[in-house]
Amino acid sequence: MPKARPRRLPPHRGPRPKGRRPQRQQQQAPAPEPVPAPAQAASNGHAPVTLPKSMLVGDLAKFLEVPVVDVMRALVGMGEMKTINQSIDFETAVLVATELGIETQAEEETPAPAEPEAEIAPVKLDLWTEDDKTKLKTRPPVVTILGHVDHGKTSLLDAIRSTNVTAREAGGITQHIGAYQIEHDGRKVTFLDTPGHEAFTAMRARGAMLTDVAVLVVAADDGVQPQTVEAISHVKAAAVPMVVALNKIDKADANPDQVKAQLAERGVTIEEYGGETPLVPVSARTKQGIPDLLEVIMLVADVAELKANPDRSAAGRVVEAHMDARRGAVATVLVQAGTLERGDLVVAGTTYGRVRAMTDDKGKTIGRAEPSRPVEILGLPNVPEAGDIFRAVPDEKTAKAVVAQHQLERAGGVGAEKPATLDEMFAQVKEGKAKELKLVLKADVQGSLEAIKGALAKVPQDEVGLQVIHDGVGDITESDLTLAAASGAVVIGFNTKMEAPARRAAESTNVDVRQYKVIYELLDDVQKALTGMLEPEMVESILGHAEVRQLFTAGKTTIAGCMVLDGVIRRSVKARLIRATAPVWEGSIGSLRRVKDDVREVNAGLECGIVLDGTNDVQVGDVIEAFVVEPKPRA
Ligand code: GDP
Repeated sequence: MPKARPRRLPPHRGPRPKGRRPQRQQQQAPAPEPVPAPAQAASNGHAPVTLPKSMLVGDLAKFLEVPVVDVMRALVGMGEMKTINQSIDFETAVLVATELGIETQAEEETPAPAEPEAEIAPVKLDLWTEDDKTKLKTRPPVVTILGHVDHGKTSLLDAIRSTNVTAREAGGITQHIGAYQIEHDGRKVTFLDTPGHEAFTAMRARGAMLTDVAVLVVAADDGVQPQTVEAISHVKAAAVPMVVALNKIDKADANPDQVKAQLAERGVTIEEYGGETPLVPVSARTKQGIPDLLEVIMLVADVAELKANPDRSAAGRVVEAHMDARRGAVATVLVQAGTLERGDLVVAGTTYGRVRAMTDDKGKTIGRAEPSRPVEILGLPNVPEAGDIFRAVPDEKTAKAVVAQHQLERAGGVGAEKPATLDEMFAQVKEGKAKELKLVLKADVQGSLEAIKGALAKVPQDEVGLQVIHDGVGDITESDLTLAAASGAVVIGFNTKMEAPARRAAESTNVDVRQYKVIYELLDDVQKALTGMLEPEMVESILGHAEVRQLFTAGKTTIAGCMVLDGVIRRSVKARLIRATAPVWEGSIGSLRRVKDDVREVNAGLECGIVLDGTNDVQVGDVIEAFVVEPKPRA
């Protein structure tokens, strides 16, 4: 639902409450310049601080001239956990300011006459659709590396980077900008620099599918471990093609066959065993197998036919962003369509500005970035969030419209249709919108997990499917919540606990988490949800009958004077008129009277006046049958 409009504060009258406003020197926030465009911080001690409709937590600290930790503390006091780069709305900002004893006012809304508000309506975002198929060209794949901790994700990223810099680039200092691009056999591959399924799924939860190919790193000496299992579930839920990199093949205790068997147990069947997933033995330490891995990534990319039109205005996603004391907001963006050029006016999330400078992952200044190319851009007035959409726009008016659209989306007004709770899902299925219940299942021990999975497999799934997208032993983690949020799943825990970060994630994502201590109750709830979700069968139930004994007219309306023979007659319910033995009309009861009063119902043995809604063709001796049509309760 779109948020309510921020209320305007009355102009400041009295003096600011004393003593709670720290001095500027105490600031811990990133250096204040450049001051974000839309508002000015109060420069004298008493003027109210002007605040925009929404702002980043860090910006609020700057506007209020207080340390950012004070703002965060106030937010925590209000039950809101926010990072410095997350945005808050005006209302929240006012509450924080009040808490800190600072008077505020809303930013003046002064739309220029040439740009009336109505014209800054949300625009249609045609980011990813390309009408002209002839303009599509093959683009490099974007790869994410996932796997268990210490299996060598970072080492592999480094090994790939160091072995694949072209002669021209060699000597350039590698910059960590969140993603990098290498060249292999004259073809480019982009790697996202934040390995792990948490980041992967957090992006997906924001609707940002950046990854074309997922590389699952499994250490040959350690085999499939809990986070390997998680990574597999996350990749499968995202339906991204996977390549297994069997790492540390140089080690003496490497046991490839065991790893292959473990993978098969987890539903990842490698090509060698007749499955679809390629597996490449590698060593990040000796660099053995790395060219083969790149080769296979290319093959998978070829099958996926990754294409984009470079010949249009740029669009993509923010990979990461931060505020730099010297350079202002710095954002790494991944161009997904079109070509980004220096000087372009771009919107990123809810901020927009002109691209002042653009550098690649080697720190080299560049003028253009084609699809799949990650670049660092300068020139945005505020820091966007990772996962935000960015796009180049022709003019400021469009920029404002796109910002409006993004704000609406951020507030959950658009596209927020994922079922996250059993109740919501129930409602959606009733409307015919959802046909599957997805679960993330956690249990304290393997034995109970297997028992629950076995029992769930037996639950009838004729009309609504049941899919366990991830299961594992252990407490409910933040990553379980992110996966559930990105996939519209419900989290079910058996004898499990939930750590604080997971609890916070559950609150912020509204994912339905259900914890059980009795297997029967767990199964019963799932079964109820599934059967509750079945499209209800409608059945008719007869309420009662009334015989027409007399007719009256009031104007053009015929009132049937009746005796209720059995059951009950209710106002507004469905009715049919039976003459002799056959029904002659069907509709509903318009009005129902006892003596002179309108009543809701009349019981057997009493007289009443009935007006049928839509017919006057009633005869003495007819029988009015009252009935309702209701969903049939499931056995
Ligand atoms: P990450 O947690 O998955 O990012 O793993 P790291 O890249 O930090 O690697 C964990 C440890 O494994 C480090 O000590 C690496 O030096 C070591 N390591 C990584 N790859 C290899 C490899 O191919 N062979 C050997 N012998 N050690 C490796």
